[in-house]
Amino acid sequence: MQYDFDVFVIGGGSGGVRFARMAAGHGAKVGVAEERFWGGTCVNIGCVPKKLLVMAAEYGAAAADSAGFGWDVAPGRHDWPRLIAAKNKEIERLNGAYKRLMSGCTSFEARATFIDAHTLDVGGQKVTADRIVIAAGGRPVDPAFPGAEHAIVSDDAFYLPELPERVVILGAGYIAVEFAGIFAGLGAKVDLVFRQDLPLRGFDEDMREGLAEAMKTQGITLHHATTVASVERVGATKRVHLVNGTMIDADLVFSALGRRAHTEGLGLAAAGVETNGFGAVVVDGQSQTSVPNIYAIGDVTDRLNLTPVAIAEGHSLADRLYGAGPRMWDLDRVATAVFSSPPIGTVGLTEAQAAKNGPADIYVAKFTPMRHTLSGRVRKTIMKLVVDQASQKVVGAHMLGEDAPEILQGLSIAINAGATKADFDRTVGIHPTAAEEFVTMRTRTRVAGG
Ligand code: NDP
Repeated sequence: MQYDFDVFVIGGGSGGVRFARMAAGHGAKVGVAEERFWGGTCVNIGCVPKKLLVMAAEYGAAAADSAGFGWDVAPGRHDWPRLIAAKNKEIERLNGAYKRLMSGCTSFEARATFIDAHTLDVGGQKVTADRIVIAAGGRPVDPAFPGAEHAIVSDDAFYLPELPERVVILGAGYIAVEFAGIFAGLGAKVDLVFRQDLPLRGFDEDMREGLAEAMKTQGITLHHATTVASVERVGATKRVHLVNGTMIDADLVFSALGRRAHTEGLGLAAAGVETNGFGAVVVDGQSQTSVPNIYAIGDVTDRLNLTPVAIAEGHSLADRLYGAGPRMWDLDRVATAVFSSPPIGTVGLTEAQAAKNGPADIYVAKFTPMRHTLSGRVRKTIMKLVVDQASQKVVGAHMLGEDAPEILQGLSIAINAGATKADFDRTVGIHPTAAEEFVTMRTRTRVAGG
């Protein structure tokens, strides 16, 4: 059987582009379809523009903090349209760069849907391929409360025409806490509504508590253990009613209730591809779906929904199918960061997770970072090491504070390499930094578990 392509990739996001580029580099004839924008969520309506907005908010804080260092900076007005225009220009540049990365492949700016296991409809054209890789990503969960049509999701947040003065954010995962910091940092009044007692379920408890404190200090109102009952429109205002009876008037209601695999309308049933109860494509450890010639990578499989994971999966799949063998990534202990204000960096086990495996030595440092001794800003940095007592291996590291994501990247190498607490202790610190605290934690704070 002669196919049009050796392999066809559905989705030109981080995972799909990496797979396509690597497979083409190995000599495969590759087709790629992207219906919206090259680079996918991360480049266009996710990680990259989000971090630019975080930086914009940080400049405001830095200007205020500089007074403590002798600067007279008159309080300025933030120009949101100017920020969005600059951000859009950069995203367009990246978008073009991603498109150019596809030069060794045949690209289609169209939607692809399955006709059968080897045949796709790509924008009305029938295309066949020996193998097909589904890299269609995810999309925000739509809220379901009465008046949900008045709420936006993260896709929309990057293109708001103006900065809202009053924002209600629903949820307390990555996206909710990151945008709470962005909007508050740019001067908006922010209310965060979430159903747990603390934000960021699944993260280490000390980080969650520390972030909740920091958010309150920043002026964000936390409405915990509740959720939105309904939203009504009163003139230009969105009136938000919470289940606990609280009423909040807002200019913007932002729903950040998680993301789902983007498989609706893909025609997976026509190809016989199995999905789970949430619509995510089911794969084995080799990214293979229930149909042997069809693979899936990245958020469409709804496992570790992080850009570098999608890239790692795409890269190793291309190497395995068309190259000399897969480059291996360690996906057991993937470091991750939340670009909240301040940010969190984390790798490995939380204290609660480690405690389930047996006794763990816990080291915690909480201090005012040097910058804020003069800035006057009330802000604590929290650092934590989780050490398996029996092996003395450092099994988790967590930090809330400025530069946490940058610091944790290095620590994740040490932890993935199996470093022990003694290895940390014999490492000489870099002074004066916050990071040196990770190698100077001499006194155990407590023992967990066991
Ligand atoms: P998350 O899964 O991180 O958080 C979802 C939030 O919505 C949680 O607070 C959750 O509460 C709440 N929630 C879900 N359903 C309901 C409901 N029915 N009623 C009330 N609350 C609800 O999703 P995000 O949208 O923030 O982000 C999606 C994913 O994208 C992340 O998990 C991450 O993988 C990725 N991402 C990564 C980033 C990074 O690396 N910096 C940045 C942004 C996104 P509960 O905890 O109780 O379930």
